[in-house]
Amino acid sequence: MSTFTKEIEYALNNGKYMLAVSLDCSGAFDCIKFDSAERCMKWKGIPDNITRWYVNLLKGRRVHAEVQGQATHIIPHRGSPQGGVLSPLIWNLIMDSLLTTFKGEPVQVLGYADDILLYVVGKSPAILANMMQNELKRVKEWGEVNGLTFNPSKTSMVLYTRSRRRIDVKVKMGGVPLQQENSLKYLGVEIQRNLSWTKHIKERTNKCKFLLGKCRSLVSKRWGLTPKKMEWIYKAVIRPKVAYGAVVWAHRITKGIERDLTRVQRLAMLTITQPLRSTPTAGMEAMLGWIPLSTHVQEMGMNTYLRIKELVQAGWDGIGHHTTIVGHLGVWKAVEEQCVGVLYPRGKRISEQIWTAASETEPEHRLEYPIMMYTDASKEGANVGYSWLASIGEYVIEENITPAKDISVFKAEMLAIGESLKWLQKNMDPMRRNIILSDSKSVVEKLNGHLAQDEMTRNIMVALRDLNARTPTEVIWIKGHSGIVGNELAALLAKEGAAQADKLLDTKPHMPVSRKEIKRKIHDHYMKAWQIKWESLVDCRISKQFYPLVREDKRIVKMSQKDLQLLTQTVTGHGLYKYHLGHWIELPDDDSCSLCQEGQEDTWHLWEWCPRLRKDRKVIRCLMEKGLAYEHGLLKMMRLKAVESLRARNETLLAS
Ligand SMILES: [Zn+2]
Repeated sequence: MSTFTKEIEYALNNGKYMLAVSLDCSGAFDCIKFDSAERCMKWKGIPDNITRWYVNLLKGRRVHAEVQGQATHIIPHRGSPQGGVLSPLIWNLIMDSLLTTFKGEPVQVLGYADDILLYVVGKSPAILANMMQNELKRVKEWGEVNGLTFNPSKTSMVLYTRSRRRIDVKVKMGGVPLQQENSLKYLGVEIQRNLSWTKHIKERTNKCKFLLGKCRSLVSKRWGLTPKKMEWIYKAVIRPKVAYGAVVWAHRITKGIERDLTRVQRLAMLTITQPLRSTPTAGMEAMLGWIPLSTHVQEMGMNTYLRIKELVQAGWDGIGHHTTIVGHLGVWKAVEEQCVGVLYPRGKRISEQIWTAASETEPEHRLEYPIMMYTDASKEGANVGYSWLASIGEYVIEENITPAKDISVFKAEMLAIGESLKWLQKNMDPMRRNIILSDSKSVVEKLNGHLAQDEMTRNIMVALRDLNARTPTEVIWIKGHSGIVGNELAALLAKEGAAQADKLLDTKPHMPVSRKEIKRKIHDHYMKAWQIKWESLVDCRISKQFYPLVREDKRIVKMSQKDLQLLTQTVTGHGLYKYHLGHWIELPDDDSCSLCQEGQEDTWHLWEWCPRLRKDRKVIRCLMEKGLAYEHGLLKMMRLKAVESLRARNETLLAS
């Protein structure tokens, strides 16, 4: 999908046209011919006996069906078994034979499962139509050979262009003229003629709103889904539905799209918090710790980009000659550079099994004292230090400190062990065993396992294996800060390393940055974007006082429906307080606090200023210092008798 979008962006930004046809393949799995499966398997070099076995399996199947008591047996002559583990693979082989016939030609084919797409880019729509016409013939022939038919009435054709004027092109398939449409669906994403995504988003958000509506009917004030379950449904089921395909569209969120997205999130929040009418969405987001949906989909798009960027053919960086709009890959690349720097080495993901072998030779007398290596790592902000020291008996024979920047403690600990292994390779004694002691359980477990998933770990595991072949070497976990002298010393050295790191000017990470770290940095980037959005809002004055900083939160939804409702009213100020009511009704007097007559009556005043509540405030603050959560402190304040009666008074005001 990203490849296809990239091609459209290229065509549009360079003043060209793209003609695309999406084929509706009727049947797919249940239509393939046995001999075409056999041919493709041979073509891909699958051993004959396996091919024969599979073809026999296909031919020898019996299908039994029973409808209203009438049973039939048939022996199928085409199709692969529904749900068969090999069926998708065989299908892919057959599809591959189609894709390879188009390699290096102007008309390109994209395929994923049974979604087949043909496209061609050029300057003249008429010529494009002509080329497409020829290629469709070839696809049709290929389909006949493999037992597949295409349905012209369900096949859609789109001419992508920036021009608003509609240009008609004529292409026929099997004698039937193809319908020219304004958008085309590929892999479930509606891609419009002018590469606008409004239609796709509308469709998606409407579906999600419908789903949320259904959930909403399951939630009532006294029974039904708890806020926690509701949040789960939203984040695990509904939000991914909206974020689907974000990599191609989330970089171009227009006001309209943003509005649609916000509505979905709002609806989900309303179900959870059951607030008063007109409670601001942004305020509820800040309280629940839900990142705005338009920001979330951008993060998802960015994450997808990182995953696929090597798969999407390079060659065009997303910028056209007459650049008006940068393509999606160009936008994500810019964000990537902003978040993690231009030339960071990326951690390659590998999966390799490394098995240790026992030492080949066992000396007759082994010296009693092994070489003990203590390693440790320390981190303070961005400053990291790691260290090792070697000792025999009570004597420290070598020590080492390395300062570093911006790496995780796990990685630093790994590096410390790696460095100590380097030293051991040179200084080992075949008469002594080696013991490496680390207080990092995760590192020790990793090294004692067999699976390496990144290059650094692999190299260390290999070094460990090789050393172990020369003289027995073990990595053992010890409890940190438990008074083991070597460990305490290593910890001191590591701390010193971290202090030295402060003076390092070079902040570029020397180590490959792992995917996890990149993901974290990107998440931070979008959290920052949320904060900026939050601060630049004109309204939500009261919510901003309660939550000057936005954050993600997992605790709040654990509250009961009732608590959440009151909390929402408190932090947004949309509740039975004079300042808020003043927007809706005419107050008998002004909106000054009915407890103290001194300030404007709103929730922030009650929480922070109202002199009448000074004593209670002190008690609650004291509890908070002892560990009472902020939100529970707020609830306690709002449930004070004085505040309750204030609300009751205002309610009668509202009724009259
Ligand atoms: Zn007051």
